[in-house]
Amino acid sequence: MRKRESRTAGGEVVKMMVTVVDFLECAHQLPDMPWLTTKKCCNLHGHTYKVEMDIEAEGRGGIEMEDIVVDFGRVKEVLRRFDHRYLNDEFKKVKNYESRPTTAENFATLLWQEVQEILPAGTFVVGVRVWEGFKGDQSNLVTLSY
Ligand SMILES: [Zn+2]
Repeated sequence: MRKRESRTAGGEVVKMMVTVVDFLECAHQLPDMPWLTTKKCCNLHGHTYKVEMDIEAEGRGGIEMEDIVVDFGRVKEVLRRFDHRYLNDEFKKVKNYESRPTTAENFATLLWQEVQEILPAGTFVVGVRVWEGFKGDQSNLVTLSY
């Protein structure tokens, strides 16, 4: 495979980043954890999750596909595996997540891990933002950054 460098007209090597945005409808239920101030999340319920994922490719030799950082469709295939699903069951299918509660924080790290696995060499997830219960300014936002 031919290696490609991304250079500006001035010759500097640059990194490229794209942000993939998607919405997922998921059901989940949290166990009765001591840190829950209200117990409403212990009931089966659902959210619209907004997911923004920043993906970066190294400028020098890391970009394997011509002219793009990543195939958005492949990333969305991974994200959509969780759409219209019960997250508690989905977490049980992923190593090291089997007994973790389905918090937005854990969902964000799981999505990070699952997408990173399908990326070509030299391409990395560098940021994830997950809004749980996406309702404009009433959302709960979790941000992870590399
Ligand atoms: Zn919830």
